[in-house]
Amino acid sequence: MKVKEVIALLEELSPLSYSEDFDNTGLLVGDANATVSGILVTLDTLEKVVDEAIEKNCNLIVSFHPIIFSGLKKITGKTYVERVVQKAIKHDIAIFSNHTALDNSWNGVNAMICEKLRLKNRSVLMPQNETIKKLITFAPTKDAEKVRNALFAVGGGNIGNYENCSFNIEGKGSFKGNEASNPVIGKKGETHFEEETQIGITFAKHIQSNILKALFEAHPYEEVAYEITTLENQNQHLGMGMVGELEQGMEENEFLKFLKKTMKTDCVRHSALLDKPIKKVAVLGGSGAFAIDAAKNAGADAFISADFKYHDFFKAENTLLLADIGHYESEQFTKELLHSFLKKKITNFAVLLSQINTNPISYL
Ligand SMILES: [Zn+2]
Repeated sequence: MKVKEVIALLEELSPLSYSEDFDNTGLLVGDANATVSGILVTLDTLEKVVDEAIEKNCNLIVSFHPIIFSGLKKITGKTYVERVVQKAIKHDIAIFSNHTALDNSWNGVNAMICEKLRLKNRSVLMPQNETIKKLITFAPTKDAEKVRNALFAVGGGNIGNYENCSFNIEGKGSFKGNEASNPVIGKKGETHFEEETQIGITFAKHIQSNILKALFEAHPYEEVAYEITTLENQNQHLGMGMVGELEQGMEENEFLKFLKKTMKTDCVRHSALLDKPIKKVAVLGGSGAFAIDAAKNAGADAFISADFKYHDFFKAENTLLLADIGHYESEQFTKELLHSFLKKKITNFAVLLSQINTNPISYL
């Protein structure tokens, strides 16, 4: 299996097009065509993680956080980032990162936190805009089913828990081919009217090339008439953070103890207790202060995230309980997620979980 084939598998879990604009995801170091000898999964790529990959004969590191984030001007080994990149290149080790693509995925970072906290009735905290597209095409009515099915087969027409969604209007289409044309129906130089069906479906933007490929293959005409537009609808299964409900409400102190134990953290920094039970909980793995208002608007009793600054805690405003459980701690189970996903898909070579704790923060 080649590096690019492993990446294609990972894109089933979290398409790279889900990444935020500021991010740097994808293959960061290495050759996409190299044959993979083994995969090492980590949260961060540190030098000792590259050493571990060398020792365990893994030439692909799948790292949640990208080692190269804002660019490199020199690679002389002065910083840990330069040394990691140098060492990886020297030993033919590829490094791939999916970071915010996985943050934004329905089965990503936040789903893992919800799983650990046993949150039910989940929804995305900040659904993304402009990730849903609409295709309108016109096919001869006798071929409409074939065209529809081809679009459904590549993931077109999926809305929430429903598949094969489309809207179809029958009518008459007209066309006249010029001298260079080669019409499947009608004659060149003559205006032809054909019983056609207008098919409308929506699809996720990251599958657009597959949708067009399926359309062109299934549609009988020499020239396929179609329109694609971007919708303003929010994608309910794609975006930052998640909100869900505990099976049963918990008293605040009890909840904080449960949080500390479940998320295996040595320190929970939290805002003032409000003397009300916690039932609805918003979560966002990593730095999540930007989502405090979204958590309030979602009616969450508590918001669990990391990297809150002093002034962020004031934003609780006696409305909800803010809890900072640590950046590494909030994302630690992401390693397990990537590891178990790849292990299920790959059986012919090793997919290993890095044994190195890459958390740069310790508590006294
Ligand atoms: Zn992070």
